[in-house]
Amino acid sequence: MDAPKNNKFPLVVIVGGGFGGIELAKHLAKEPVEILLLDKHNYHTFPPLLYQVATGSLECESIAFSLRKNFEGQKNLRFRVAEVTGVNVENNYLETTIGEIAYDYLVLATGSTTNFFGNKDFEHYTMPMKTIPEALNLRYMFLQNLEQAVIAHTPEEREPYLNFVMVGAGPTGVELAGSFAELRNYVLNKDYPELKKEDMKVYLVDFLPKVLGPMSEQASEKAKKYLEDMGVNVLLNVKVESYDGTNLKFADGRVIRTKNVVWSAGVAGIVPNGISKDILVRGNRIKTDEINRVAGTSNIFAIGDVGAIITEATPNGYPGVAQVAIQQGKQLAKNLASIVKGESTEPFKYKDLGSMATIGRNKAVADLGKLKFGGFFAWLIWMFVHLISLLGFRNKVVTFINWLGSYVSYNGGTRLIIRRYVREALPDVAEANQLPKTD
Ligand SMILES: Cc1cc2nc3c(=O)[nH]c(=O)nc-3n(C[C@H](O)[C@H](O)[C@H](O)COP(=O)(O)OP(=O)(O)OC[C@H]3O[C@@H](n4cnc5c(N)ncnc54)[C@H](O)[C@@H]3O)c2cc1C
Repeated sequence: MDAPKNNKFPLVVIVGGGFGGIELAKHLAKEPVEILLLDKHNYHTFPPLLYQVATGSLECESIAFSLRKNFEGQKNLRFRVAEVTGVNVENNYLETTIGEIAYDYLVLATGSTTNFFGNKDFEHYTMPMKTIPEALNLRYMFLQNLEQAVIAHTPEEREPYLNFVMVGAGPTGVELAGSFAELRNYVLNKDYPELKKEDMKVYLVDFLPKVLGPMSEQASEKAKKYLEDMGVNVLLNVKVESYDGTNLKFADGRVIRTKNVVWSAGVAGIVPNGISKDILVRGNRIKTDEINRVAGTSNIFAIGDVGAIITEATPNGYPGVAQVAIQQGKQLAKNLASIVKGESTEPFKYKDLGSMATIGRNKAVADLGKLKFGGFFAWLIWMFVHLISLLGFRNKVVTFINWLGSYVSYNGGTRLIIRRYVREALPDVAEANQLPKTD
């Protein structure tokens, strides 16, 4: 078994080096505990800028940061690259890709993944964008499709390669739609002189009546107007019914022929096996009490996207946003220290710092408490907040220089196909034909 314990202090195993996990680990640095941080990647990801990686405006290294480097010098912490596959709740150990790991306290900070609501065709044919590898897949796929559009013989053949559809009009869908519209407006003619700007169409669709659902009416209306001004077709109150890789069908009978569909319509918590299904709530999140302790357990906690503090005031838990994960990580560090020292704990209280979304160059919308505004000033604040939140000095500088270059040239970023994206064969087809799986 990995990670022998120095028996002096209890061992806190944290699964996930995302926003919640690293905040918790950092705030436990001076407490009488040993920490073992596990993540399936050796880096921390900054998801709010994934869409820029996907659309080729930022290199992926700019939004990732080495977890080992982040905890350099923290004496009570060790890090292992490992994927946790199960929890043995009765006997206090984890099953992982590097073997079994015992814990005294376990914190699940595994975040969330894309929810396709059980539809295998959506899962197979559309592109999710929750991780850096997924953002890169999306980038390679759409660049390959533009190359296909160039060599298509007829407008009919070309059409599906030039239709871009974002399903889900939350921040991810809105930001991606804005970026693809900019690509069409400023880059398409330069990179692909054979293609006409009018032939590339960008759609943002949602079955809800507004974009940016959780934000204010003002933010939602402004964002919709900004998108439409940029040429995005915003289709609301429409339900996507099926997709076969080319024909995206809606419940009202409409069909869009497209090879570029991004699925950002739902999320589901990443819950390891062994956690009782009875305590999973909406969005596959683990029900916890007000100190993030998993229901029915004494030494297991869940924070961030994977946990849901269910109370009368928060019947659905807190929203799945970075600030909730960060603040829960910080508060749980205090509470774990109190538990270890035999002191009393304090319930988590969320301080809503507001929300923002950006729509192409120069425009963003912001709900900051009672202040609700949009436009250039909101965009400047958006850039500042995202720059200071990136981990690592180099990442901040490189990202800033990239943004400056793109702003001045209208043609920033690198749109290179470094690795071909090949969609995995459908499982039954692969089995029947014995095709090798591709990554
Ligand atoms: C595209 C996108 C844009 C977003 N934009 C915003 C935004 O603008 N503002 C905002 O507030 N929020 C935004 N969010 C949401 C925000 O990123 C999440 O709420 C936040 O990351 C949750 O933090 P977390 O610590 O719970 O999980 P995460 O930050 O997702 O971290 C989870 C970690 O767990 C690791 N992990 C998962 N499963 C395992 C396993 N089985 N074993 C080992 N390790 C595992 C992962 O590798 C990851 O490092 C965005 C999310 C996405 C996907």
